[in-house]
Amino acid sequence: MLEKNLLEVEKRVQAACDRAGRKREEVTLIAVSKTHPASMVQEVYDLGIRTFGENKVQELCEKEAILPKDIRWHMIGHLQRNKVKQVVGKACLIHSVDSLRLAEAIEAEAAKKDLTVDILLEVNMAGEESKFGLTPEEVPDLVDKVAAFPHLHIKGLMTIAPNVENPEENRVHFANLRKLSVDIAAKKVNNVNVSILSMGMTNDYEVAIEEGATMIRVGTGIFGKRDYDIT
Ligand SMILES: *Cc1c(COP(=O)(O)O)cnc(C)c1O
Repeated sequence: MLEKNLLEVEKRVQAACDRAGRKREEVTLIAVSKTHPASMVQEVYDLGIRTFGENKVQELCEKEAILPKDIRWHMIGHLQRNKVKQVVGKACLIHSVDSLRLAEAIEAEAAKKDLTVDILLEVNMAGEESKFGLTPEEVPDLVDKVAAFPHLHIKGLMTIAPNVENPEENRVHFANLRKLSVDIAAKKVNNVNVSILSMGMTNDYEVAIEEGATMIRVGTGIFGKRDYDIT
């Protein structure tokens, strides 16, 4: 089942790239393995995938400890400051930085461990109350502040679009995230390179690719439904 799913996702990613006149290599597929056992991650790994996303620190750390060391783990879920210590050094990219306080906590831990941490700023493009993330208006100011942190590198922006029936409804949010990244890039802040756009999930990754996504986060499309989605 996993191989068939992966082939289907790969086919759709390629088709979306073709429609948008983009190269397949411009889009990184992150296999979102949250709630699924390490054995399933290993299966997907054996099919060639090396980039996995988790939304909980503990689960990321548990899987990281037992799965192959060449896996690139991405922390894609909301991050609490008291969990920063565990994830710094394990995740190659933290997608969910949404406050100065969180950025400060990551900077402090990175300094302590003497490493640099790549991060994305999470933006709540649709203004959903149920979601974490900065407002688009808050982003430029946080970029300026975090740019001065020696152990953090802002690499781009991330958004979680609303859960909609028709993915076309999310096109505007993806287009707006891209515009925001273009505006930030134009300011040429030192130490900041906003080339990554992490946007698009199972339901809407094709639209996201058409609007410029460079990372898509696909869980259900690869691993199938999560238990808590069914119960
Ligand atoms: C769970 C999750 C995904 C993947 O969702 P699917 O709809 O299963 O593809 C993507 N991004 C984040 C932040 C998630 O928590």
